[in-house]
Amino acid sequence: MEKQQFKAESKRLLDLMINSIYTHREIFLREIISNASDAIDKLAYTALTDDKVGIARDEFAITITRDQENRTLTVSDNGIGMSKAELEENLGTICKSGSLGFKQAMEKQEDIDIIGQFGVGFYSAFMVASTITVITKKYGEDTAWKWVSDGADGYTIEETQRDAAGTDIIMVLKEDSEEENYSEFLDEYKIRSLIRKYSDYIRYPIRMEVTKSRKTEDSPEDKPEYEDYTEMETLNSMVPIWQRAKKDVTEEEYDAFYREKFFDYNKPLRVIHSSAEGSVSFKALLYIPGKAPFDFYSKDFKRGLQLYSSGVMIMDNCEDLLPEHFRFVRGIVDTQDLSLNISREMLQHNRQLTIIARNIEKKIKSELKSMMENDREKYEEFYGVFGRQLKYGTVSDYGAHKEACQDLLLFYSHKQGKLVSLKEYVDAMAEGQEKIYFAPGENKEHLAKLPQVETLSKKGYDVLLFTEDVDEFIPQTLITYEEKSFCNVSSEDLGLESEEEKKEAEEKAEELKGLLTFVKESLGDQVKEVKLSRNLGNYPVCMTPDAGMSFEMEKYMKRANPEYAFPVGRILELNADHEAVKAMQRLMTEDPVKAKDYAQLLCYQAQLMAELPLEDAFAYTELVCKLMQ
Ligand code: ADP
Repeated sequence: MEKQQFKAESKRLLDLMINSIYTHREIFLREIISNASDAIDKLAYTALTDDKVGIARDEFAITITRDQENRTLTVSDNGIGMSKAELEENLGTICKSGSLGFKQAMEKQEDIDIIGQFGVGFYSAFMVASTITVITKKYGEDTAWKWVSDGADGYTIEETQRDAAGTDIIMVLKEDSEEENYSEFLDEYKIRSLIRKYSDYIRYPIRMEVTKSRKTEDSPEDKPEYEDYTEMETLNSMVPIWQRAKKDVTEEEYDAFYREKFFDYNKPLRVIHSSAEGSVSFKALLYIPGKAPFDFYSKDFKRGLQLYSSGVMIMDNCEDLLPEHFRFVRGIVDTQDLSLNISREMLQHNRQLTIIARNIEKKIKSELKSMMENDREKYEEFYGVFGRQLKYGTVSDYGAHKEACQDLLLFYSHKQGKLVSLKEYVDAMAEGQEKIYFAPGENKEHLAKLPQVETLSKKGYDVLLFTEDVDEFIPQTLITYEEKSFCNVSSEDLGLESEEEKKEAEEKAEELKGLLTFVKESLGDQVKEVKLSRNLGNYPVCMTPDAGMSFEMEKYMKRANPEYAFPVGRILELNADHEAVKAMQRLMTEDPVKAKDYAQLLCYQAQLMAELPLEDAFAYTELVCKLMQ
């Protein structure tokens, strides 16, 4: 028998646990019991398809044994057990799921219920125990194993005996000292209250021998005598939180359950507890997290809800229950309408499951909508974290989910200086305004200065400022919202001119044809077209993209693929009333070389305002210096 060392990371965590002066150390019991319950879940699941398990559903149990003399507290389960390799892997390494966040919080020294919130479960027992022995036998194997550790020095594993599959966690409690009382964890009432506080909802009986008192058989009725006797008692009510009536569950209970179940130390932003009766009945307990998990936008993130059927967990991440656009939701669905031994493949095509999924999608949508309407601050907090996901949801699958998502979107309104929904935008549209205007770009401040935005603002029209990559795909997907079409202010006709004004503009363009031709010829291939514009306000020029794609989209494509070789055509628009343009016009005959330099300079300026990179910054600098001299 050889002593193994803990892996480095685990060792550090252990030190924290052993030397902890943590006030909430009582949570170790919850952690150990929760592991036992998970182990039983696994065997109960196996039993659905494997007759050899031979344990009826109501025979699964967790048993707590107290031994005052040896100062041991033992938690036993008849669950799946662990093989030797699993013992090494699971108890030799700190739980991966919670470890990262745990260490971060420890480093920040935040005074919160750290241990409980991280699912670093098993190790927490070292807060109260000097030695822990684990006796375990994996279901289906012949050999049982004994793992012993006193924390700091590592652990040993050797062969041992155990009748059936399952695990015993035997904790030798630390000695009491003046400040610390560990013996209380052997106290019947203490344990009873801890189980009720933390583990009441565990769906298997947690049993313990308790002392009771009864009248002795032969003592007379009028002068009764009492004697103590012991009896096994189930300490928990076994009703899972989602099966309880909403009014009977406190906010703390919802939160605590979430944190423990989903390894998140942040409070959930919203709890959705719902039940449905009808063609399919189910109970759902859903949470909207307050923060995105660190891997949320990566491929590793697994979306889905936990699926229970008649109290047995049948799938951990059931993707079919949760649409991609709401993938941030965590939670549990419990239904009696699914056959227990349904396979994963069959689940996918299961009609009941489809109905539940549709129901859940609707429920999430309506909850989010009501949050948007009634608790805006909270909704914006949510939107800050998961808004991008809703945008992706809107545009994904060619807009197949736009109905579910479009009403939940928010964009920055230039006029109102805050986030608004599309509905709020349309409702507040000025008299005569026909389109939903948006301006795509890198930041709000820059966009606010766009001449087109200024022109529209002067008319009292609002413009949505699109600063995220995905934003611009939204008008392309929705095409219209409440029958209003979208208009990109920097690439499309703003639709502000009357027929008469258009005609006037055409005449003016004809009149200034010489100027336009001169500029186009001076610039050559740098621009596709040069034309006049009346929407430029105080600016002499602007650069707009040729129909179809915007410059932002072009940049986006280039970021996605550096080889991307389809630049959008550049159209240089001139403000014929601007003094700089007039000056250029005068020079056309007096000093054509200088006029050409002016044209080039204006082109550079238009590029800069459109946030387009200058291909040759040196040429630009030289030109400015030349003109200054
Ligand atoms: P977590 O439960 O958060 O994964 P723990 O440190 O509490 O982390 O447990 C580590 C792992 O050890 C568990 O994931 C499980 O695989 C295994 N384990 C712990 N207790 C038991 C048990 N009673 N029966 C079977 N496996 C167990």
